[in-house]
Amino acid sequence: MYQPPTILVTGGSGLIGSAIKRQTPHYQQCFFVFASSKDADLTSPAETKALFQKVNPNYVIHLAARVGGVYRNSNEKDRVKMLTDNIAINTNVIACCEEFNVTRAILCLSTCVFPDIPPSGYPFDETALHQGAPHPSNEGYAHAKRLMELHSRLLNDENPNAKRYVCVTPTNVYGSHDNYHLENSHVIPGLIHRAYLAKMSNSNFVLRGTGSALRQFVFSDDLARVIINLLIKTAVTGPVIVAPQNEYSIRYIGELIADRFEISRERIVFDTNFGDGQKRKPASDQRLRNILPEITYTPLEVGIAYSVKWFQNNYDTARK
Ligand code: NDP
Repeated sequence: MYQPPTILVTGGSGLIGSAIKRQTPHYQQCFFVFASSKDADLTSPAETKALFQKVNPNYVIHLAARVGGVYRNSNEKDRVKMLTDNIAINTNVIACCEEFNVTRAILCLSTCVFPDIPPSGYPFDETALHQGAPHPSNEGYAHAKRLMELHSRLLNDENPNAKRYVCVTPTNVYGSHDNYHLENSHVIPGLIHRAYLAKMSNSNFVLRGTGSALRQFVFSDDLARVIINLLIKTAVTGPVIVAPQNEYSIRYIGELIADRFEISRERIVFDTNFGDGQKRKPASDQRLRNILPEITYTPLEVGIAYSVKWFQNNYDTARK
């Protein structure tokens, strides 16, 4: 009897996992299992193995990670766990991909883990990943991700016919079901929450830093389409950057969000007691466009409008 291929999505309750869930109606020939930390603590080898035993996946989309924005990444208390938890999670998942002989696995890197000062200039491409130290605000998370790339590359080299691992490497991701925590979130969800509170209390909308840092952003639903395509429609291996080419200043992002909440420009203020992190770190998605030439990205203005609306409609239940 025909058995539909099973796709295990770790980190299935998060921002990107939720976006993958919204893609599932287009892939009814596949059976998706979305796992959160409630299903298995992936820092534990035994719980990771038990999850794989239960699901017995053909494919894996590995998203689970201890994640945070620039301020959490550099928080003294979190720096060690950013390294050790992420190394443990990634090592356990990859070990099970090997043991359970999965056909293919997507592992999630991040352009945040690229070197602070790239020796061969901007934009980064996939070859720059290990060419220099990451930004100090990001060290633990970055080295854990870099080790995952190395681990999977060595396994790909050991078993080249399997073409088992591809490391999707997104720039900043945003969309619905994000983490809107005021301290531990990424820039867009954090700003959406601050703007919401500023609007409610009729107070200033405070942006941390000078607003001059430049970033690229990818809408979570665009990334989800790329991930599934890379997994089941291609046989590519190694890192693949997903990053729309435009860079936007944090000030511009703040203004877009303020506009959605009808907060006037005079109410946007900058708290320069906070740093900006890396000034810019543009990455090139040329490899992705060679692999999937049909790729398109949602315009930032459209994605932000959708994300703000989602947060307003789901304020009570949103992660914050
Ligand atoms: P979220 O913070 O939204 O979700 C994290 C997910 O990981 C949750 O499902 C969480 O489960 C799960 N998780 C965390 N710790 C454990 C654990 N010990 N055991 C099992 N599951 C765990 O993350 P995102 O969706 O934003 O990120 C997904 C991936 O994408 C990560 O690998 C991240 O590094 C990468 N990435 C994210 C970017 C971004 O801007 N968001 C940018 C580039 C890369 P639970 O809900 O139960 O806590």
